[in-house]
Amino acid sequence: MRYSQMLLPTTKETPSEAEVVSHQLLMRGGFIRKLTSGMYTYLPIGLMALQKVAEIVRQEMNRAGAQEILMPMVQPGDLWEESGRWKKYGPELLRFRDRHDRDYCLGPTHEEVVTDIARRELQSYRQMPINLYQIQTKFRDEIRPRFGLMRGREFVMKDAYSFDVDDEGASRSYENMRQAYYRIFERCGLEFRAVEADSGAIGGSFSHEFMVLAETGEDTLVICDSCSYAANVEKAAIVLPEAVVSDAPLQDMVKVETPGMKKVDKVAAFLKVQPADVIKTMFYLADGAPVAALVRGDREVQSVKLKNLLGATDVEPLDEDQIWQQTRLPVGYLGPVGLELKTVADQEVMRMVNAVAGANEKGCHLTGVNPGRDFQPSVVGDLRQITTADRCPLCGGGLRLKEGIEVGHIFKLGTKYSEAMEAAFQDSDGQAKPFVMGCYGIGVSRVVAAAIEQNHDDKGIIFPVPLAPFQVIVLNLGPKDEAYCTTAEALYNGLRAQGLDVLLDDRDERPGSKFNDADLLGIPYRLTVGKTFEKEGKVEMRSRKTGETQVLALDEAVDVLAGLIRQALS
Ligand code: ATP
Ligand code: MG
Repeated sequence: MRYSQMLLPTTKETPSEAEVVSHQLLMRGGFIRKLTSGMYTYLPIGLMALQKVAEIVRQEMNRAGAQEILMPMVQPGDLWEESGRWKKYGPELLRFRDRHDRDYCLGPTHEEVVTDIARRELQSYRQMPINLYQIQTKFRDEIRPRFGLMRGREFVMKDAYSFDVDDEGASRSYENMRQAYYRIFERCGLEFRAVEADSGAIGGSFSHEFMVLAETGEDTLVICDSCSYAANVEKAAIVLPEAVVSDAPLQDMVKVETPGMKKVDKVAAFLKVQPADVIKTMFYLADGAPVAALVRGDREVQSVKLKNLLGATDVEPLDEDQIWQQTRLPVGYLGPVGLELKTVADQEVMRMVNAVAGANEKGCHLTGVNPGRDFQPSVVGDLRQITTADRCPLCGGGLRLKEGIEVGHIFKLGTKYSEAMEAAFQDSDGQAKPFVMGCYGIGVSRVVAAAIEQNHDDKGIIFPVPLAPFQVIVLNLGPKDEAYCTTAEALYNGLRAQGLDVLLDDRDERPGSKFNDADLLGIPYRLTVGKTFEKEGKVEMRSRKTGETQVLALDEAVDVLAGLIRQALS
């Protein structure tokens, strides 16, 4: 491509509404333009970046034996009635009517449509396993579209669906996809982790999320330093060390005055104990009913774990006023003893001996509190937030916390949709059986944003070579000089003849602004026909990632670059 002819409107100014760096750089680099909330046009270079991701996804899906199809984006409401999701799916599902007053929706995902295909086209067990996928625009009327391509209302997804005759087959299909996902994100050149998204599920892990590590991620992951373990902190299981049986004699419970001592640290210091000796009591509203959650004083409650332990759909912390209204108890002096509320205790709390807890009376705490003797929680379980002081549940190694962006999600569906929609095949024994399904999504457009979140500096994007819309930019710093032009053109043509994606900056612009644009656009290699060409008849190659430069003779430049890029793609 010639820069002078390309619609590539770069800007210096950062658009004020763009909060995250990928959104800022995609706007500044002329990749995308906003149409309306959560909807973007991909300008030429943006579409190139999107297609780089899509092509890697396509190649690896095909390699894994999946077959590409393309389903309609508009879906009939009847199918959603059949699956039971017409009413269940929230306002994210954009519903509308056609001229005949029939219900339709814009596809946020395609389980219904693909199950309908399967029940019409797959009659026999001999036709399975089969995996159908598409790369397509999805629509979800997100409550808070934001961060540009990261959370749009319209976005591009690869969604795949597998059909198997039994659970064993479905597990193999799932594993096949899990490995394909590893290859996809490795080939993208991204640092990522697969996390178990449903570790508590019966019979193991039936769902994995693929997370690109980046500071702006909306999820927090805990990652092992020594093995491949990674989990969402919301789900990361805590392994308790072997119980050390305390031989301290159990003390009697005593009420002590602790005026003004509302925080764990203060109470602990005042009573000359450690924060770990204090029982912290927090109040939540779980599906409308107040519950008390107990953790050790040096720990934090993880509210998603609390929600899962309670089997609740919604858990909210209560503030001081709400607690007073609901329970007439004084915040800062709350405790489990004599509390007439549902209480959920972290497993660690049950090991505490002669602990300190609030007395449910203003200005008072209890000492010598012994769980089991002095109070009995309704539920005991893993309730607290994991920390870097905990150990890896798999190998015992050290842990780190990292932010992550969900770019893919694979799921074992079982017969949920096939049963609801009466989608069955004839098995080898002649019996009609429902398909055992799996579904597998990748946020193709979100991958572009995630790649930028992970790879950028203060000058702009630093694309990993496999995702770069252009792999090389040739800068012609003498666009009015014939020798410069001939050389730049020859390099441009030579690189393209090697199959590389090249941008020739042939604009009549100041060198400074050409350098800035090349950096902003994140093109991995820059080849400059400039000062060294004037002086020595040579060109300068610079790596966007490392900033390293190398002076190359004209007759070697193409081969050197082609070699570097081939290496990065292999
Ligand atoms: P999230 O938790 O981020 O809302 P989700 O769990 O609803 O995502 P899935 O239904 O699993 O998403 O969709 C598959 C993939 O599509 C996700 O892993 C994500 O990469 C992408 N995706 C989902 N919603 C959006 C969106 N609003 N904008 C861009 N990509 C999205
Ligand atoms: Mg998901």
